[in-house]
Amino acid sequence: MRESADAHLAVRPQLRWPARPGRAGGEAGGDLPRYRIPAGPMDPETAYQLVRDELMLDGNARLNLATFVTTWMDPHADRLMAECAAKNMIDKDEYPQTAELESRCVNILAELWHAPDARDAVGCSTTGSSEACMLAGLAMTRRWRAKRRAAGLPADRPNLVMGANVQVCWEKFARYWDVEPRLVPLAPGRTHLTGDEAAPRCDENTIGVVAILGSTFDGTYEPVAEIAAALDRLAAGGGPDVPLHVDAASGGFVAPFCDPDLAWDFQLDRVVSINASGHKYGLVYPGVGWVLWRDHDHLPAELVFKVDYLGGTMPTFALNFSRPGAQVVAQYYSLLRHGREGYRQVMEGCRDVAGRLSDLIAAMGPFELVSDGATGIPVFAFTVRDAASAGFSVFDVSELLRTRGWQVPAYHFPPALEELAVLRVVVRNGFGPDLADLLAADLGRAVDRLTASGRPAPPRAEATSAFHH
Ligand SMILES: *Cc1c(COP(=O)(O)O)cnc(C)c1O
Repeated sequence: MRESADAHLAVRPQLRWPARPGRAGGEAGGDLPRYRIPAGPMDPETAYQLVRDELMLDGNARLNLATFVTTWMDPHADRLMAECAAKNMIDKDEYPQTAELESRCVNILAELWHAPDARDAVGCSTTGSSEACMLAGLAMTRRWRAKRRAAGLPADRPNLVMGANVQVCWEKFARYWDVEPRLVPLAPGRTHLTGDEAAPRCDENTIGVVAILGSTFDGTYEPVAEIAAALDRLAAGGGPDVPLHVDAASGGFVAPFCDPDLAWDFQLDRVVSINASGHKYGLVYPGVGWVLWRDHDHLPAELVFKVDYLGGTMPTFALNFSRPGAQVVAQYYSLLRHGREGYRQVMEGCRDVAGRLSDLIAAMGPFELVSDGATGIPVFAFTVRDAASAGFSVFDVSELLRTRGWQVPAYHFPPALEELAVLRVVVRNGFGPDLADLLAADLGRAVDRLTASGRPAPPRAEATSAFHH
């Protein structure tokens, strides 16, 4: 270590550790303060280089096929975001135009998602879909509680019905706000929620059902219209009248452009709220999500605070107070810059790449596709058909791909499909056909190596942590 550190210093003499008084070797061998604040200031160039060098150990974002989050934006977006880095989203009085761009984005999404009145759209930006889901869940809880109280019924045991494949934010919502999570188990051949499974689990204490447009585990769309129809039948038959929320974290920016005939949004009367992540297929760097309600009736007024200590009186419904404004500006930029046709091209391009890559993978002996990425969001999962006879598992493949820089996560499905272990590829803007071919080639080599080494498949317990993004 010492040797390479010195060699490094030889070419970049500005990178000397700050000398520590009373300690020998401060020039090159002293401590870089890590876990305590240094006593004095440091030259910014040195600090910059130190931090930057340390970050070289991070993965390469473009080769990270695990994340759903945008890892590439064009240089104009970079510039705009840098110019807005100091803007606080909550200071709507000081930055009225940033606030205006936020509300334009809400209008745009309301139109894309067929809200009954897109001009009088009800919604806001958030830090991401997790916060958006918390807000939507809170609104459903409040409405359920108000209805129960008005009828003189107890309102202390709310539950939420959703597939076991929900993203972790819904389990967080349930735990943080004391709502019983009713997780519908998966089954062989059924990797997400269906109407037939959801409706029977609803009762008078159900605040809502969550349908996912673009399941985290395999990219498939849940059949939102079918779930809505099952809930319609439940209510028509004298059962509870249960609202439907659509978690369109990924699909909210894919379906409107690629699947215009699919009814999944406010076109379905049962859908009361929808969330999406601007920083996933919304094509913005991390830190922005969106949540919209069908109309004012579905967002209880008591959840909206009016604050005046920043000048002016602005309504706010958020878990955070201060947060960056640059991402919201960048969202408006992306919508403006791409337009409907631009988003369609980007998303269709991603689907083409996902389809081509999943075809190549399906053609490799040991793999079997769980989804193909060509319908739904451009995300697909695949498994090793028979790990015991292949002599390796998805976890071995993931590990070996890492040695080439690719991050392709391997994980087990949630209950009751725990036996299914998969690798998942998230195709995003910036992952083109060339990179896809390179990945396929590396995957082929990994299979050859694993087959040749004939290692026995590791016991299942070796990697049990579910992978959520
Ligand atoms: C990513 C994701 C979330 C959480 O979104 P963040 O924007 O990362 O907070 C919620 N639901 C689904 C379906 C997701 O894919």
